[in-house]
Amino acid sequence: MLRKKRAFTLIELMIVIAVIGILAAMALPNFKHARDRARQAKCHEYTALLTRTAEIYYIDNKCYPQKAEDLNSYLGKGQGFQCPAGGSFNPLSGSGVGENNPFVFLCTIHQCASSTWGG
Ligand SMILES: [Zn+2]
Repeated sequence: MLRKKRAFTLIELMIVIAVIGILAAMALPNFKHARDRARQAKCHEYTALLTRTAEIYYIDNKCYPQKAEDLNSYLGKGQGFQCPAGGSFNPLSGSGVGENNPFVFLCTIHQCASSTWGG
């Protein structure tokens, strides 16, 4: 009596691969969107941290930082002044010029994330 080999047919394998492909095509854009939202939330959190750090700088030095790099020593090793998505915090033009004019820093990628101090 011949023994029949048990195995998947080519059609079955193609169907499984097609289903996996469809699921991956649906999941990847959602994953990318979730990652971008997480980075934006982290950027907002970071700008709030910068504002609080500027207040600590003021308590220590009796004046607000005149540039963003002044805060680097307060942010810990390797933290620096960076957005998690790779953007940088640039001062809003005209901010921090006068005595009553606060410094406003905006993220180059997330324009809604800002840090404000002084003024
Ligand atoms: Zn950002």
